[in-house]
Amino acid sequence: MVGIQSTAQVTSWLDAGRGLFLSIHVLGIGCFGYIVAKRLTPLIRGQRDLRFDQPLTRLGKVLKYWLGQWKHPRYRVAGTMHMLIFAGFLVLAIRAFSVLIVGVSQNFVMPGLSGRAGPIYNTITDYAATIVFLCMVFAVIRRLGFRPARYDVPARYGKAHTADAIFLLALIAILMVADSLFAAAKATAQAQQGQLAEALAAFSLPWFLQRALLSTSLPALGKLYFGAYLLHEVTFYFLLCYRPFGIQFHVETSLFNIYFAKPDREILKPVRWGVSDEHLDQVKSFGVKTFEDFTWKHMLDFYSCADCGRCSDNCPANAVGRPLSPRFIGIKARDYAFQHYPMFGHAGNGSRLIGKIYSEDEIWSCTTCGACEEECPLLVEHIDKIVDLRRGMIDDGNVPQSLQKPLKALENRGNPYGKMEKKKADWTKPENFQQTCKVRILNGNNGAELLYFVDSITSFDDRLQSIGRVTAKILNYVGENFGILGAAEQDSGHEVRRFGEETLFMALREHNIASIQASGVRRIVTADPHAYNALKHDYQNIPPVEHISQLIAREVKAGNLRFNPVENNGRVYTYHDPCYLGRHNQIYDDPRDVLDAIPGLKRVEMSRSRDRSFCCGGGGLMLFYEPKEDQRMGVKRVQMAAEAGANVIVTACPFCMVNIEDAIKVSGLEGKMTAIDLTELVDQQMAREGQKVA
Ligand code: SF4
Ligand code: SF4
Repeated sequence: MVGIQSTAQVTSWLDAGRGLFLSIHVLGIGCFGYIVAKRLTPLIRGQRDLRFDQPLTRLGKVLKYWLGQWKHPRYRVAGTMHMLIFAGFLVLAIRAFSVLIVGVSQNFVMPGLSGRAGPIYNTITDYAATIVFLCMVFAVIRRLGFRPARYDVPARYGKAHTADAIFLLALIAILMVADSLFAAAKATAQAQQGQLAEALAAFSLPWFLQRALLSTSLPALGKLYFGAYLLHEVTFYFLLCYRPFGIQFHVETSLFNIYFAKPDREILKPVRWGVSDEHLDQVKSFGVKTFEDFTWKHMLDFYSCADCGRCSDNCPANAVGRPLSPRFIGIKARDYAFQHYPMFGHAGNGSRLIGKIYSEDEIWSCTTCGACEEECPLLVEHIDKIVDLRRGMIDDGNVPQSLQKPLKALENRGNPYGKMEKKKADWTKPENFQQTCKVRILNGNNGAELLYFVDSITSFDDRLQSIGRVTAKILNYVGENFGILGAAEQDSGHEVRRFGEETLFMALREHNIASIQASGVRRIVTADPHAYNALKHDYQNIPPVEHISQLIAREVKAGNLRFNPVENNGRVYTYHDPCYLGRHNQIYDDPRDVLDAIPGLKRVEMSRSRDRSFCCGGGGLMLFYEPKEDQRMGVKRVQMAAEAGANVIVTACPFCMVNIEDAIKVSGLEGKMTAIDLTELVDQQMAREGQKVA
């Protein structure tokens, strides 16, 4: 090295190492291929999942959620950092590729970058490397110094991966430094020889390194140049091969995970893809019992989880201390896959997951509220997996004690309360109601245009029957030609399906579809978001369905519904988005528009609203199943309303009403806080002059 006199001699060191670099390339690519092949083994053994349709829609998702990083800004600090790193990686990908080739072909220049574009691209990459490096430093400081609570790993879920995360961040930082040092050493050598040095972007990492190297001798620069290249290459391949062993695997899998994500999140996964309902009796086993019962896409989800904790941070079950954290549904399955599909040796055959990596209570704790999926930047699907695990438990006869009675009642009577079918329309019978509103029971085709689908809870719960009556009164007032199915209506089966009882759900659905078709109606309306979601997404061959808030909002806009001003000005209202109206169906504005149309109504938003709404505690069968928890979800929700300065919680779901009213009592806020359904408030405030008649 002492004899080095020119820049050419500095860079010629790369030539000397060509054989070594080539060997590292071959070894790195070979190892990566082997590791990925091993990681793909369980996916090949997994269940079918039909994800090859709708290529344009899928591509759109890739552009929005992968390239556009759509969900990341929801967490401002971590999101901004991720977006910077992601953009940096994209920009640096071409440079990394060129640098790798330079080791075996020193004069290689990426096509398109030999002319004027080259220096421009180099300037951009100098800054990109600097930004990524700074982000790594910041991320390490954040992890060590002020780590957000969502990264913590509760003891029951294992150990925190802090050391692993820091190791990976450090590797990326080393990669950036090596890349920059490589460029800086060359530019310094060129400058020392009085040649036109490659311009390094001012105040970038390579630029600072160049300044630091100004007095370095040529031989030392030669060593640095060679060393930086070697470090870059080794770190690059080490990272490539190390990532599939942990959370960083998402760097490779995220694009595919987003491309293959469900285009319609609201539609629940069928029991078996490719097996129609009529042929389900030929399916030997329902749901997920072993790891291999998951579909290949769900396994890809496990690999793609970045362990960012956003899902669990928003999960109401996790927030109230239920034994469920959606993040660990995936992490535990991934750990299982790594353990049972080792790099060397045979794959272990599937053992039961419940009791081994998941507890029963964990899987029953989910309210299917969708907050986890709404938040996940990688579009990981939690609900389908949880429902599939429940299907597996139900298939094994593993039904929680408290659910056995309502499920039996649903089977025998078509409702979870075991009430007689003929009592289904009893809510219409109070005399004072009948004097103001006649509700037709549709026995076959009675010429009604609109069906009001009431569903079980509103039909049978004494408190919630009020929602049924005011809904009918509103429909009557706006002149709808409507009726109900009465005894011919069974439970919509929404919760039954989400609790994994697919066969029972199918029986309820078949009955209801036949009744609806026989009624000859052209439209359906319901005041129950769970029924709405079932009719809209789980049923086929029925007329279009609306939630009552949509119908009311339309009538308000058309000027057919007007409101009297609110009288008590001390009231402050807040709207609680029901999960199956908001998150699952994106109906956020209609209920708010209705509230805002009431003169004098003062409305505030809770900190968690719209797509970040906090589940009230679970509708449907959750009323019959209470997992262990530190606090009720409803109580937490009521506290949020109080914190927002509200004293009236308006919702648009009978299940929310039960949970919130109950929570108000439990919180000792009776008299200070009230809850009301949107339909009840509309009925209360409606200006009825010149009342229309149906
Ligand atoms: S659906 Fe809701 S309750 Fe279930 S895991 Fe996701 S956030 Fe938690
Ligand atoms: S599932 Fe999604 S939100 Fe949850 S930890 Fe993984 S990447 Fe984050």
